[in-house]
Amino acid sequence: MKQDDLDFDRHHIWHPYTRMIDPLPCYPVKSAQGVELILADGRRLIDGMSSWWAAIHGYNCRELNQALHQQIEKMSHVMFGGITHSPAIDLCRQLIALTPDPLDCVFLADSGSVSVEVALKMALQYWHAKGERRSKILSFRQGYHGDTFGALSVCDPENSMQALYQGYVAKNLFAPAPPAYQFSEGHFFDAPWNNEEIQSFSQLIETNNTDIAAVILEPIVQGAGGMRIYHPAFLREVSALCERHQILLIADEIATGFGRTGRLFACNYAAIAPDILCLGKALTGGYLTLSATLCTRELANTISKGKAGCFMHGPTFMANPLACAVANANLAILARHEWQPQVKAIEHQLWAELSPLSAHPTVLDVRVLGAIGVIEMKKAVDVASLQREFVAQGVWIRPFGKLIYVMPPYIIRPEQLTQLTQAMAHVIFNRQN
Ligand SMILES: *Cc1c(COP(=O)(O)O)cnc(C)c1O
Repeated sequence: MKQDDLDFDRHHIWHPYTRMIDPLPCYPVKSAQGVELILADGRRLIDGMSSWWAAIHGYNCRELNQALHQQIEKMSHVMFGGITHSPAIDLCRQLIALTPDPLDCVFLADSGSVSVEVALKMALQYWHAKGERRSKILSFRQGYHGDTFGALSVCDPENSMQALYQGYVAKNLFAPAPPAYQFSEGHFFDAPWNNEEIQSFSQLIETNNTDIAAVILEPIVQGAGGMRIYHPAFLREVSALCERHQILLIADEIATGFGRTGRLFACNYAAIAPDILCLGKALTGGYLTLSATLCTRELANTISKGKAGCFMHGPTFMANPLACAVANANLAILARHEWQPQVKAIEHQLWAELSPLSAHPTVLDVRVLGAIGVIEMKKAVDVASLQREFVAQGVWIRPFGKLIYVMPPYIIRPEQLTQLTQAMAHVIFNRQN
């Protein structure tokens, strides 16, 4: 790539969570194939990030490409107001079949954040229709639910820098983060569970119960807010408390959905069914931006009988046929169940190759679940220099804060995964402090 183009990028184009003055460096990628990103200069990097949880079947996947080619010859997009089409119908039918039983109605939108906005609106509109004024959402510290204002209002208040937008962000309630869960390979359910760990959440819900419209959480794994794993019993208790107090439960499975944690959905670990479920990221196998918000029949009917008479949301690109077509192809691949042994094998290998690193003095914790491997360092890392080291070793791993972590495409081969874990070990042993 020409230096001129890179300079233009640096001076004119925002990248995620970066600055315009002296931004972190960017690596030009010209193509991607399988589990490799191919840089403009021809270097090939093994991808440890799945482009942020999304590219579960790798890049340039033949079946996903084919689905898009076929769909584009028919239509790329038509409005969804007053029109419907097979790609959307097929997708929603499958999503309803795959998710816990009470979820029966689907709202398709453009991105994960929008799906969270839709979920919050659904919850508020539900109570409005029932004639109750409920204005608060209860969420958990260390959570992450997206960057738009509604989603931001339920993210960890410090991480999301809510103070920057004071007066503009809805004031919600926050329970302490679910306690981090220590377990070893194959013992995800066995570790003891202390019921006291639910106490602060339980108290919050009891004291505010008539003001809370919904509880929102990321089931089992809190992603971008800290890559934290918690006990299925905690999730089960939260769900039971919501039910007891008749408060809606929103499960944000945008990161955890579609097999990443070892179950198709993380909710499956606790055998719970939320009232509202948000899906995104891997929904299209990482090809296009699309999200789905599912809700129960009861919720949908209540909203529909309310004063507003309808659900007040309708994005321009709602149910985009290309995105739906590639999502259907993604679900077809998942339906062959190769993901299960793949994720299991990745999990086993991550345990084997990352656990020894927990003995290193700079490492605070190593944790693994499904195709997610996390090393939490004692101190924050320097992203730019670590990224440079990783690229020099032929891998793509993007750390943040104290976390060096991987969540590779499910199709990664053992020797490729070893390259990722060796690169992680290498940067840790190379650190001075
Ligand atoms: C990424 C993410 C979102 C936001 O999705 P976008 O598509 O980036 O808007 C919301 N919730 C969770 C749990 C996520 O991981």
